[in-house]
Amino acid sequence: MLFARNLWTDYHTAMRDLLKKHFGYDDFLPLQEEIISSVLKRRDALVLMPTGGGKSLCYQLPALRFDGLTLVVSPLIALMKDQVDALKSNGIAAEFINSTLSYAEISRIQAQAQRGALKILYIAPERLALPGFQNFLARLKVSLVAVDEAHCISEWGHDFRPDYRNLGGLRRSLSGVPFLALTATATARVRRDIVELLHLNEPQRFIASFNRANLRYSVLPKRNAFNALVGLLQRHRDESAIIYCFSRKGSDDLAARLCDEGFNARPYHAGLDNDTRRETQERFIRDQVSIIVATIAFGMGIDKSNIRLLVHYDLPKSLEGYYQETGRAGRDGLPGECVLFYSYGDKRKQEFFINKIEDETERRNAQEKLERVIEFCELQECRRRYILRYFGEEWDKENCGGCDICLTPREEFDATIIAQKILSAVIRTGERFGVSHISGVLRGADIRRIRELGHDKLSVYGIVNDFSDSDIKEIAGLLIARGLLYKTSRQYATLGVTEAGWSFLKNRETLTFTRLKREEETVTVSGRAALDYDPALFGNLRVLRSQIASERSVPPYVVFSDATLQQMAYYMPQSHDSLSRISGVGAVKLEQMGDVFLSVIRAHARLHNLKERSVPD
Ligand code: ADP
Ligand code: ZN
Repeated sequence: MLFARNLWTDYHTAMRDLLKKHFGYDDFLPLQEEIISSVLKRRDALVLMPTGGGKSLCYQLPALRFDGLTLVVSPLIALMKDQVDALKSNGIAAEFINSTLSYAEISRIQAQAQRGALKILYIAPERLALPGFQNFLARLKVSLVAVDEAHCISEWGHDFRPDYRNLGGLRRSLSGVPFLALTATATARVRRDIVELLHLNEPQRFIASFNRANLRYSVLPKRNAFNALVGLLQRHRDESAIIYCFSRKGSDDLAARLCDEGFNARPYHAGLDNDTRRETQERFIRDQVSIIVATIAFGMGIDKSNIRLLVHYDLPKSLEGYYQETGRAGRDGLPGECVLFYSYGDKRKQEFFINKIEDETERRNAQEKLERVIEFCELQECRRRYILRYFGEEWDKENCGGCDICLTPREEFDATIIAQKILSAVIRTGERFGVSHISGVLRGADIRRIRELGHDKLSVYGIVNDFSDSDIKEIAGLLIARGLLYKTSRQYATLGVTEAGWSFLKNRETLTFTRLKREEETVTVSGRAALDYDPALFGNLRVLRSQIASERSVPPYVVFSDATLQQMAYYMPQSHDSLSRISGVGAVKLEQMGDVFLSVIRAHARLHNLKERSVPD
C-alpha cells in the first residue's frame, strides 16, 4: 500500500514539474490530470470540454513524455501558427503543415519530423487525402494522434468536414497508437459518430461541466441601449470586447457611432472584403483594436483569451449560438461579462425572418429555438441554471453568484392593488389585448389606438402612476406564472383572466411578490482569480508585452497572458525565484524574458516605494 502511494506521489510530482517547467502552470484545470494519465496509459479517449477548458494541454503534455511524434489534426488553419508559436516560446519543438506553407517549407518540416526532431506536428485534415502525405506518415514514429474539433467528423455536427472521414483509415494504419478526440460541442448523436467513425477502441469518456464559472450573464432591456452600451464599454476601457449584431448594416452603423464616441471599434462581417477582414482580425488579436462589432461569423477561427466584454446587441437565434458566442469571453479564466439586450421588437424581427423559411420542419425548429431564447431573456430565476439545463446538465446551486438574477438583491412588495388593477383592465378591455396595450391604458397613455377604441373613457384609464411600463409588464408576467392571468398562444398574445384570477378579485385576496431591486447598480464582475493588482504596473507590463510580441511577430498572449501579467502587477516579484512562481512563467520564458519583466517591475516598485508580496507556492 505504502509503496503504491509513493509511486503515485512520485508520478504526481513528476507531472507537476513538467507542467511548471514547460507551460508555467502551477496546477491542472479540472479533468486535465485524469485525461493526461489515461493518454499516457495509451488508451483512446473522448474529451468533451467547453471552450477555454484547457483541452490543448491534454495532448501537449503527454507529447513531451512520449518518444515519438504527437500528431494534432485541426481544421482551424488560422490558429495553427499561433499555437505553434506558443509552444516554441515554451521551448517545445513543434511545427505545422497546412496550405499556407510553401512546398519547400513543408519538405523541411517533414524531414525534421522524420529525423525525430519534432515533438508535436499540427496538420490540416485535407493533408490526409494526399497520397504523398500518407507515405510520409507511414515512415514516421507516431506516438499519439489528437483529433481536435472532433465533431467535424459527424454530419450531425454543425461543422461537417468530409476530410475528417479519412481519419478512420489513419486509425487502422496506426493500430496501437492512442487516439484522443476532443470537442467543445457534441450532442449524444455526434458523440456516437465520433467514437464509431474514428474507430476508437473502448475509449474512456471525459465530460467536463459546461459551466463557465468566470462568466457573468445578464440581460438588459433594450431601451436607450446605445447609452447603456457606452456605459459598459467605459467600464471596460482598454480591454477587448466583441459586440454581436443581427445585420451587416447594423454592425457598420454601430461601429461608426462608437468611433464617434471615441472608442476604437471596427465592423466585421461577410460583406467586407477578405483583406479588410483579415486586417481587422489581426489587429484585434494584437490588441491594436479593442472593439469588434460583428455579425455572428466573427470569432470562429480566432483564439483570443482576454476578451472581457461580450455583448449581444440584438437577439441571438438560439441558445446554442448564445452559449458558443459568450464562450469566447474570458478564455484565460479571468472575469468575462456577457450582456444581452432584449426587446420585444427584436423578437418580432426574428419571427419575421423565421416565417420566411419554406421548409416546414426547419421553420418549426427555428421557432422552437427562438422560444427558448425568449424564455431565457424573460427568466425570473438563475440564468446559468437555465443554460446548463438546456444542455442537459443539472446545476443545483441556489445562487450562482454570476448572473443578474442571482446578483441583484430582491425585495418583497405588496402586489395586491396593482394586481387588481391589471386584472380589471384586462376584463374591462374585453380580454382581447396584449400586455403593452393594457399597460398603456393603465398608465393613461395618450395613444391614438387607445382613443379610437374608447379605452380612454374606461374607469381603469390612467389609474396607475406608481409603476413604469416595464414594471407592469414584469408583474403581468408574474401574474401569468401565478395562474391569475393566461396568455393565448396566438401570435399576438392577448391576456385573459383565469378562474383563479376571478376568485382573487371576488374574495379580495392579498398578494405578495418579490421583485428585483433594479435601481441599485449591480456589483461589478467578480471572477475566481480577480486580484487587486496595481493597474499602472499592469499597463506598463502590457506595453512591454506588446513590444516583445511585435518583435517576435506573435500575438501578445503568446508572450504572457493577462492573468500572468495581473499576478506580476499584484505580487511584484523582484527576483528570478519569485518570478518563476507566478502562474504562466515557465523555465524558457523565465530565461528569455525574466530580466526585462523584472526590470519593469523593479522600476515601478522603486518609484512608488512598493514591496514584493510573497507568491504562494
Ligand atoms: P480549449 O482548447 O479547451 O478552448 P485551451 O487549451 O486553449 O482551451 O486553454 C484555455 C486557456 O487556459 C489558455 O489560455 C491556456 O493557456 C489556459 N490553461 C490551460 N491549462 C492551464 C492550467 N493548467 N493552468 C492555468 N491555465 C491553463
Ligand atoms: Zn444565477
